[in-house]
Formats: sequence, structure tokens, C-alpha cells
Amino acid sequence: MKKSILDKLQVLADAAKYDVSCASSGLNKKNTGAIGNSAASGICHAWSSDGRCISLLKILLTNFCVYDCEYCVNRLSNDVDRASFTPEEVAELTIEFYRRNYIEGLFLSSAIEKNPNYTMEKIIKTLLILRNKYHFAGYIHVKAIPGADEILIHQAGELADRMSVNIELPTEDGLKLLAPQKSMKKLFLPMNQIKDQINQSKYELSHFKNAKKFVPAGQSTQMIVGATNESDFSMINITDQLYKRFSLKRVYFSAYVPVNKGGNLPAISTGATPMIRENRLYQADWLLRFYKFEAKELLDKENPNFDLDFDPKIMWAFRNIHEFPKEINKVSLNELLRIPGIGLVSARRILNQRKVRNITYEDLKKIGVVVKRARFFITCNGKYYGEKNLEPETIKNILNPLPPYEQLELRINQ
Ligand code: SF4
Repeated sequence: MKKSILDKLQVLADAAKYDVSCASSGLNKKNTGAIGNSAASGICHAWSSDGRCISLLKILLTNFCVYDCEYCVNRLSNDVDRASFTPEEVAELTIEFYRRNYIEGLFLSSAIEKNPNYTMEKIIKTLLILRNKYHFAGYIHVKAIPGADEILIHQAGELADRMSVNIELPTEDGLKLLAPQKSMKKLFLPMNQIKDQINQSKYELSHFKNAKKFVPAGQSTQMIVGATNESDFSMINITDQLYKRFSLKRVYFSAYVPVNKGGNLPAISTGATPMIRENRLYQADWLLRFYKFEAKELLDKENPNFDLDFDPKIMWAFRNIHEFPKEINKVSLNELLRIPGIGLVSARRILNQRKVRNITYEDLKKIGVVVKRARFFITCNGKYYGEKNLEPETIKNILNPLPPYEQLELRINQ
């Protein structure tokens, strides 16, 4: 029976919930003579029960797939309800939802229908209708389909704000095991192309008035945590390399959700570990991007996984306890950022206040420092406020480990 557009929406919005590589952050856009403004901060209306998404219409163009990745609900060999939007339908839905103020933009992902070029052409046609027929100037994030021709990736990049290629598994071995139709080489090709063309576009825009924008909000990727047996060390190393090699805006992590059984997939009995690991990887990613940590400082071959009870920054401090305590009134911004309990905002506030006068221990709370943690690692005007015995085990026993995380279920339209 032919599916209505609403039936398709149900199938393809549900199928998109496993893709977490969307966030509308990173782009402020105001338009005159067109519709669609977007704000740099993304907000989430639906999709996951842990609030990880934003006010984008998040759908797959199709869940018909010619690939058979073992971890994926849409794999060729699965007997699931299938649907495929036409480009006109996606454009119409986006505009109708936008006009009703339900969404700010569109996150359009897709399985691989027929072949990569066919799918990429459908994505481009959707964007052309939105941009040219409806004059929609809002935020659009689309997938670049690995294996599609360069010219198609280029066309999509001139119409989209952000593009992403999902790596999904961090190593060639992992891909061979669970997604043998994919390879790192095939995945890296479009990522490299997007990076080069973003750079070229930036150069042209700075020299020529009418130069075209190309993926102005940058590119991102997603990796699944726990579908293969790669360690956190391996995950965080490849994350670091991806940021450096492809100038990615974000690497998203998605805790493995066992939607299929058997084959080479891991048996996950409690379901809890991947979610905690996902959280730790996001914390480590934050340290790489904003705190100037190197991946090799956070983990190594002897300690290949993050501690499940304590976050990566405090674990780094425990391993380097000989560097503490640090005098809050003397250390540099980079040193402040390495003190547990001090974040970016509080570190800057400390520096600003130091220009006027020395910081007292009482000031720290007002500044936003988490004194409960920081007190073990600092002195304030020469005075130490932690325990006499500056041993990691003592501090661990005093600091309550974070409460165990519950595995959150992915739900839709809650
Ligand atoms: S190509 Fe994408 S949609 Fe198709 S099976 Fe693999 S992960 Fe799923």
C-alpha cells in the first residue's frame, strides 16, 4: 500500500534518531527578503529522551539501504518498515514546520538508496527546492554520502550550512568486521574534499565580494561507542586526529544501541556501559577542544579506558599529583584550566580579578569555581585548604564518585 507523507514521516523520523551528529550551533544567520533565521545555539524539541537534539526537522530521506552494516537498524537484511521521501515532500514538510514555528531548520540524513550518487542527487534536489523555490535561508545540515562524485558533494556544500560524514567505527578493523562495504579511505575522501573546499571558500570570500559560501558552519562526524572493542584511547586518539586533519567542528559520540542481534555484534547485557563511556568521551573531547589537552595526556596503552567513576580531568590530575597544589594567584590560564573544579569561565574570571587584587579563598565560590573539588589542588595566598595527605586515594574517598548513570532510552515525539 502506498504510504502517505505522514506515514513516511513516522518511519523516517524514527529511523533518524540514531544519528546524533546534528547541532545547529556555530551559525548565526539573519536574512532580509527571505525566510529563515538561525541562531548559533541549537535547541532540541524532540528525538532523544536525554535532550541531545535541537529544533531541526531531523529525518532520513530514505531508509532503503543497499548496505548491510551490522549495527544499523536500516541494514539491507533487516525486515523493517521502509519508506522514501521525494525531494518535494521533504522541502514541503520543512517549510510547513518552519511556518508553524516548530523548527528552525533541517537535518537531513539518508541511507544509501540504489547507490551513493543517486542518494546525493536526491539530497541536492531537496536543497535546491528549499533554497530556490521556497527561498528558505535557514540552517540546513546534510550528509555527504561517501562514494558520491566530488561534483555532487560540491553542489550540496554550496547549498548546506553544515555537512557530515559519519565514520561510525574508529578503525579499519572495526569497519571490516561490522560494515565491510565501507572503508576509512572511502570515508576520508569526502571529508578531505569538504575541508579543502571550506578553506578555498573562506579565501575567496575574503577576496571576492560575490564568492560562494561552502558549508559555512563546518563539518562534523559521529562515532559509535561500544559496537566494536576499540578502547577509549583509540577513540580519543582518532578524535584528536580528525579535528587536526579535517578541521572538524565536532565529533559526536553515540553509545551503541543494540538494535540487531548476532553476527559480530557485542553482547551488551546491562546496556549501561556505553552511555557512561559516551559521557566520558564527550568530557575528553571538551578537554581537547577547549582546555588544550593532548589525547596522549588523557590515556595511554597501559591505561586505555576512562575511569567510570571520575572524569578525565580529575584522573589526569591524580596521575600528575606531583604538579599540585598550584597557587591560584600566580598560575597562567593554561595551568588554571588543568585544575579540577575550574572551568573556562571561572579561569577567565580569576585572571580578570587578579588584575585588581589577589583572589581570596572566599572569592572562589563567587567566581564559579567548584571549591569542593578544587581545594585539593590549589593554594590561595599560600594557604592550602585540602587534606594534609595529598594522595589520590584520599581525595577519591572524600569526593563522592559521580552517581551511576542510567542508560537512557532513545524515544521520539515524547
Ligand atoms: S549505510 Fe548507513 S543506513 Fe545503510 S546500513 Fe550502513 S549505517 Fe545503516
